[in-house]
Amino acid sequence: MLYEEQKKIVFEAAKKLLAKGLTLGSSGNLTLRTEKKGTKMIGTPSGKDIEDYMIDDMLVIDFSDESGKFEVIEGNLTASSETYLHMAIYKARKDVNAIIHYHPVYSTAIGLVLEDSLPAILDDQVFFLGHPIVITSEYNRSGSTELAKHISEVINKTSLAIIIRNHGSLGFGKNMRRAFLSCELLEKTAQIYFMANMMGKIKFLDEDAIKMGKSIFKALK
Ligand code: 13P
Ligand code: ZN
Repeated sequence: MLYEEQKKIVFEAAKKLLAKGLTLGSSGNLTLRTEKKGTKMIGTPSGKDIEDYMIDDMLVIDFSDESGKFEVIEGNLTASSETYLHMAIYKARKDVNAIIHYHPVYSTAIGLVLEDSLPAILDDQVFFLGHPIVITSEYNRSGSTELAKHISEVINKTSLAIIIRNHGSLGFGKNMRRAFLSCELLEKTAQIYFMANMMGKIKFLDEDAIKMGKSIFKALK
């Protein structure tokens, strides 16, 4: 079996995502670039409950075709319906080697009410997730090429997460561990935002703190 070690990394991250309650059933999808800046990835299959995933279900997908198509080169299942979305991120962000799309509660809720981006409220938010964390500006059906196109238009180079309006979220990073941290930290930040907002007027980070935080993010990521 090709890429056995990398399939294990994707498989284990998917199981952990489910175990931590960050997604449910067959929702969400994960990919890992096989080589830095490369055009092959390991990806989870479409429509299968994460609970039932086996390591062999992880697919090897080649997206080197200039016309934008992809090909499953190892595995028998259908590639995730969000494969084009993952490709769009890898093409826009050469520094990203792992992507997790998930359906978490708090960041998805916040994406329903806020416009443009998640406000900067915490030190660790800006240090490890960057800023701004974009909230997509229009609804696109999940799995559509329109969603992939929209993500490629709104993605920035200064953060490691995106909230997809009326749908879920994305966390990414230089490796799967980092992508997982992005997912957990986005959800933690969104939960704190939600709670603080219920309790009273939020004290946001000021411009200087955001600027300093962004330079730390750049050095750390
Ligand atoms: P897939 O099962 O096709 O990966 O789709 C899950 C999902 O979250 C769609 O946005
Ligand atoms: Zn989804």
